[in-house]
Amino acid sequence: MPELEKKIQHLLKTIKEYNPKADLGLIELAFLFAKQAHDGQKRLTGEDYIHHPLATAQMLADMKLSPNIIIAGLLHDVPEDTKYTLEDITKNFGEEVATLVEGITKLGNIKYRGIERYIENLRKMFVAMAKDTRVILIKFADRYHNLKTLYALPRDKQIRIASEVLEIYAPIANRLGMYEMKGKLEEESFKYLYPKEYNWLKGLVEKQLKTKEIYLDEIIAFVKKELKEEGIEYLEVKGRVKQLYSLYAKLLEHDKDINRVYDFVAIRIIVQDIPTCYAVLGIIHKKMKPLKGRIKDYIAQPKPNGYSSLHTTVFTVDGEIIEIQIRTKEMEEEAEYGIAAHWHYDEKGSLIPSKKIKWIDELTKWQKELSENEKYLENLKIDVFNDRIFVFTPKGDVIDLPKGATPIDFAYYVHTDIGAQCTGALINNHIASLNSPLKSGDVIEIITDKNRKNPSADWLKFVKTSVAKNKIKSALAKRTLIEKFLKK
Ligand code: MN
Repeated sequence: MPELEKKIQHLLKTIKEYNPKADLGLIELAFLFAKQAHDGQKRLTGEDYIHHPLATAQMLADMKLSPNIIIAGLLHDVPEDTKYTLEDITKNFGEEVATLVEGITKLGNIKYRGIERYIENLRKMFVAMAKDTRVILIKFADRYHNLKTLYALPRDKQIRIASEVLEIYAPIANRLGMYEMKGKLEEESFKYLYPKEYNWLKGLVEKQLKTKEIYLDEIIAFVKKELKEEGIEYLEVKGRVKQLYSLYAKLLEHDKDINRVYDFVAIRIIVQDIPTCYAVLGIIHKKMKPLKGRIKDYIAQPKPNGYSSLHTTVFTVDGEIIEIQIRTKEMEEEAEYGIAAHWHYDEKGSLIPSKKIKWIDELTKWQKELSENEKYLENLKIDVFNDRIFVFTPKGDVIDLPKGATPIDFAYYVHTDIGAQCTGALINNHIASLNSPLKSGDVIEIITDKNRKNPSADWLKFVKTSVAKNKIKSALAKRTLIEKFLKK
């Protein structure tokens, strides 16, 4: 069977397993549509383009998502890169799929430009623009496959895309409780952003694992035996190695000494229900002495983003230190798929949590906050980054202004009085006229005269921001009023 045929069959098989009622014919149709639309296009890896949307769809199917999300995954690059339009998609696959594809196309325009102050805004903007969390999931799958094939891109693009993932995508995945996704995204971008550190750490971990693996197997066998003897039924006992990126972050806290990172390797015990979790914890502590202050009950008190599990760090019989994580299958799935874990079988894919979950509330609140502040959002549209400039105060604070903004706009942005008392300006330490247009990266210093009381009406001819305009106008109006009053 040709490779592509194998891949589509695998996709259909995956979907059928968790959703026997899904219309596989329609999914196959979407695949054929995308294949035809991208016909002749190649990825930089040399592969036919269709492999990319297909990989995206496969990842969504692995998350057990609904057919429309998978179809949108297959079609996600069609309007942007081919002659087919959103209308074509609506006609063939319906309004819902088209809306999802439109959302992904829009998100594609948000680009990281390395301005730290704006990262949080960028994240909020990302979530606000996605509106529908399903769009975020498709975007994640899309981006993850792009990361996997990043080696084919030029170095500057690798850095841009990897920074974007580390600064924007990964924190959002975390916020959505998608730990697995967060870990995968971080791991891949870490490799490109810090190649030296990545390789050093990879070597270190491999060496460390060689010595740890044997004893990890021994402890797993030991734990299984003890649980059996106590009559506890477990679903799985497995070893897990900490992801390199989060390990790196921990190492920096501990003088790069891997022996001080206790959860470098951990054993994870998956059981049927919550009472069994606590029973297992009791048995573990009976057999292996716990380290003081390292018992964490995230079942009674889940992390804000919903993470639940029991953690404990213990001394093994050989005197080694190891972390043990105990959780139910449900908790395991939640940690893996986060928000997605709750809509497996919801055909509409709408966000109806099976139980009240705090972090979903928080996310909703976060989104509500954003949509309530419509005006703020207006100013945060994506093209904001094309027609805005970023300048600095002498202290290094970043101030964003519209293109063409002048020292007067800058002065009023900093403070009304500084605007009104402005008599001159230094741009990059050079005297400049008050109507000079500023450029991104300029350092602006405003010269003021404390005795000056009023702005000049001439300024209205060149200021660009409405803040400056309004403040100048109101100061001038006040002056006219006072003059009239004095004349009388
Ligand atoms: Mn794509």
